[in-house]
Amino acid sequence: MQNNPYTWIEQALSTINRANWYRSVKTIESLPGAIIKIEGKQLINFASNDYLGLAGDERLIAAAIEATKEFGTGSTGSRLLTGHREIHQELEQEISKLKQTEAALVFSSGYLANIGVISSVVSQRDLILSDKYNHSSLKNGAILSGAKIVEYSHNNIQDLTNKLEQERENYRRSLIITDSIFSMDGDLCKLPLLLDLAEKYNSMLLVDEAHATGVFGINGGGCVEHFNCTGKELIQIGTLSKALGSLGGYVAGSKKLIEFLRNRAPSWIYTTGLTPGDTAAALTAIKILKKEPERRFKLWQNVETLRNLLETENQLFCRGKKISNYESPIICFPLKNAAEALEVGEKLKQVGIFAPAIRPPTVNTSRIRISLMATHETTHLQKLVATLINFNK
Ligand SMILES: *Cc1c(COP(=O)(O)O)cnc(C)c1O
Repeated sequence: MQNNPYTWIEQALSTINRANWYRSVKTIESLPGAIIKIEGKQLINFASNDYLGLAGDERLIAAAIEATKEFGTGSTGSRLLTGHREIHQELEQEISKLKQTEAALVFSSGYLANIGVISSVVSQRDLILSDKYNHSSLKNGAILSGAKIVEYSHNNIQDLTNKLEQERENYRRSLIITDSIFSMDGDLCKLPLLLDLAEKYNSMLLVDEAHATGVFGINGGGCVEHFNCTGKELIQIGTLSKALGSLGGYVAGSKKLIEFLRNRAPSWIYTTGLTPGDTAAALTAIKILKKEPERRFKLWQNVETLRNLLETENQLFCRGKKISNYESPIICFPLKNAAEALEVGEKLKQVGIFAPAIRPPTVNTSRIRISLMATHETTHLQKLVATLINFNK
């Protein structure tokens, strides 16, 4: 027994269990949407990244079926070998139009886009400045690159400036990386200030628009559009699997950047191209995004309605900030610890609301994370607020 090299796994699992960090999957038994079925029960869904309600849209489903019939279930190889179809190129063109960049490149997931891009544009002789609250894919991309990583306090421009001042001159290239909408807190990065700093310190800037694409900006172009920074030189990453209702990731930027990545990004070169079905679904989603801006307006109307409902109750706080001050469809409801978050998540489920606990190590502090969709109805929001208020008393 002593020398079984796998015994540590059981010990590790029991440590995870003791800390209330144990996770397991939940089976969704219906189409994605504002109402989903779990364990035979209909629940109002406040846990989805499907902001515009497109993942269950008939047109995306039809496009995926059609492309699958025409081109098969798998793309069968790397984009550089047998994995490239015309719809990949069409999708990349649509993304670059949406982002108003020269070019774009699709990866098989947003995670792969981040690790591939970051590890290609910087290496050992370079510096990465990374927001403390960044998504795991940004953090792991940074580690993979081998560059010197300096974390700055969340959204703290002064701290970032100090660190650039201290470190920049010791390295060849520099890259600032940040979520544009922070995935677990729902706040926005200070993009115009970050662009100024990037320029001042001769640093590249990479923003991850995973939760912003299709949600922010007059055309759904993301935070870059929201802040009127369209056309500035920077590296934009995103996913096809949130507001766009499909699967895959992308990078958008200059033609030269994309050309370079096609030749260098290992998580693009050495992995199978996006399936025809996923590609066609994402392409259809971008077309719908353009044709039906009312979906985005409805989402923001829901954000506004929830804010008004919360403002009438003056006691919801998120990390010292009144919860009703949130700036995106992601709202976090902070709780003392993991056990309490699990308990509240369970109670919500009992009254018909799905908004599970988010705990360490995903985040530093446990919370219930709520995300809104365009397809939520006012009654859904009213029920959520009524229930949360009760827990806060
Ligand atoms: C979800 C997410 C990703 C990963 O995207 P996938 O396409 O799901 O792999 C990357 N960055 C952020 C900020 C995310 O929230």
